[in-house]
Amino acid sequence: MKINVPFIDLKRLEPGFHSVLMEKFHAMTLNAQFIGGAEVSMLESRLQGELQVAHAVTCANGTDALQLALRAAGVGEGDVVLVPNVTFWATFEAVVNVGAKPITVDADLSDGGVCFEAFERAILEAKPKVALVAHLYGWGTARLLELRKLCCEHDVVLVEDGAQAFGVRYQNESIYKGAHISTTSFYPAKVLGGAGDGGAVFTNDAELADKVRRLGNHGRTAHYGYGDVGWNSRLDSLQAAFLNLSLDHIDARIVSRREAVAYYQKTLPATGIQLMSAPAGYEENGYCNVCLVPEPEVKAGLEARLKAEGIGFGNIYPSVMSSQPGAAAYLRGHFGAQVGEQLCASVLNLPLFPYMAETELQRVVDVVGAALGGDHVL
Ligand SMILES: *Cc1c(COP(=O)(O)O)cnc(C)c1O
Repeated sequence: MKINVPFIDLKRLEPGFHSVLMEKFHAMTLNAQFIGGAEVSMLESRLQGELQVAHAVTCANGTDALQLALRAAGVGEGDVVLVPNVTFWATFEAVVNVGAKPITVDADLSDGGVCFEAFERAILEAKPKVALVAHLYGWGTARLLELRKLCCEHDVVLVEDGAQAFGVRYQNESIYKGAHISTTSFYPAKVLGGAGDGGAVFTNDAELADKVRRLGNHGRTAHYGYGDVGWNSRLDSLQAAFLNLSLDHIDARIVSRREAVAYYQKTLPATGIQLMSAPAGYEENGYCNVCLVPEPEVKAGLEARLKAEGIGFGNIYPSVMSSQPGAAAYLRGHFGAQVGEQLCASVLNLPLFPYMAETELQRVVDVVGAALGGDHVL
């Protein structure tokens, strides 16, 4: 069947979601409940339970969450911070915005995380105060525990950017549980997406959590008492209400994402395309599909065919941090090779979102198969 398949469809929500939401918004608006309050506290305690962390502090967006985590970890003017060369630009930006000096670390083609050897050398030679890693695509690096241990042994605070990792489990536990400090984003396209911007910082350390909370609320120690210079990074109450309602459905959404992943895993290999998967020990959240198409002409041909057939696709991310024009003035070095460039040039993301129909998944696979010259008949 020749149907169009979008890359992502955020409008595909559970029946009844909107009417419950409107009732909630109506009551909150009548009561002028806009900042803090029950919805924000409820969201934070639900996040703690869901992600198995002792403290969850909500904030305005995922970029602020990184800046709050870095500031709370004591990063400031002139400190060296390691940042993956393959990540979303916000990871790099956060380092610069807190006054620190970013050094990039190469990627690992097998899982999209940092190259462990390059990371280790950077820890030993660059002596960073903090190292950032980003759990991209819906899983974490194969060597997560080694990364955490290495940082611990060298007194380097590891900040884990979990913006894409909501629902990811490693060795039967939430990936956030074992992190010293980690973050997420509630940008609408993320796994737990809001009706706008939002984010959160997670930690098991009460002192760090207090610091994050204070920094995100003007450094407040009392209503008119300021123990730090922070900024306003509070999550709106209406946003928290939307997220609480979304949390009611998050398990079903993640199950549906994982079913789509399983479908692709079962059917895509026959088309000849190379599919990237979560390393052993992970239960991925189905955030995105990652195919690797290293030959530029093949990739261009496939993309043209997908476009012509009305199939959405993406490339997260098309280029590394160190080659962005905006990075030049701040970059203080790079560890490792240029595997990141190779990864960025090869990634092709096919449609993946909750409640995709099997006919849609089949159509995507058929078009890929036909474009790659298999025996798929369209
Ligand atoms: C989305 C994202 C962010 C930033 O989150 P915002 O809420 O958009 O500020 C940071 N890091 C990664 C890896 C992301 O995917």
